[in-house]
Amino acid sequence: MKRPSTESLLFEALAFAAHKHRNQRRKDVEASPYINHPIALARTLAVEGGVVDLKTLIAAVLHDTVEDTDTTFEEIRAMFGAKVADAVREVTDDKTLAKPDRKRLQIEHAPHMSKRAALVKLADKTSNLRDVASNPPRGWSLERRREYFDWAREVVDGLPPVSKRLRAAFDDAYSKRP
Ligand code: NDP
Ligand code: ZN
Repeated sequence: MKRPSTESLLFEALAFAAHKHRNQRRKDVEASPYINHPIALARTLAVEGGVVDLKTLIAAVLHDTVEDTDTTFEEIRAMFGAKVADAVREVTDDKTLAKPDRKRLQIEHAPHMSKRAALVKLADKTSNLRDVASNPPRGWSLERRREYFDWAREVVDGLPPVSKRLRAAFDDAYSKRP
């Protein structure tokens, strides 16, 4: 069979992520379908950030598959190539670590991220701030929502400067800090 074009790989990634996340929900009161989040990220990158690099958009669609499902980096590499797998690896937390360590490591790793991973991370934090502001995880106190905003800002402030437009989108989301 002919190897799929780069454009069609984006749809392959959407179908792959939708399947992998099929039994998961976000933490908001409505328990939104999980796939809405990776789609929101890719949309932010493409529509608000003007990002056209398909490997970045594919990495955005796949960014939570290893962290939150049984997907392996090897699976991603075989289907989408080493560059996409590397970007996903850069934005994947080590789930064997305790939560406070994972949060601290995100801040420490941010300055060393590649451009592709930094774009995905920036869109991820923007999307999550929008969610915490308007559809927060069930049961989060005001203090906890504020702490999340401050931590996300620390991570984003450490990222290399990869997109003025996306940084402006993040700052706009941050301005809605509860
Ligand atoms: P997180 O704080 O990591 O939960 C937020 C993550 O959940 C997001 O980064 C996002 O990750 C995902 N998510 C899913 N649905 C939503 C949504 N609707 N809105 C925003 N994000 C969503 O996880 P934990 O619940 O495990 O919290 C752990 C930390 O919280 C600890 O480090 C602790 O310090 C702190 N904490 C604070 C408390 C307080 O009251 N101040 C109480 C308890 C803990 P992704 O994009 O990867 O899916
Ligand atoms: Zn995410």
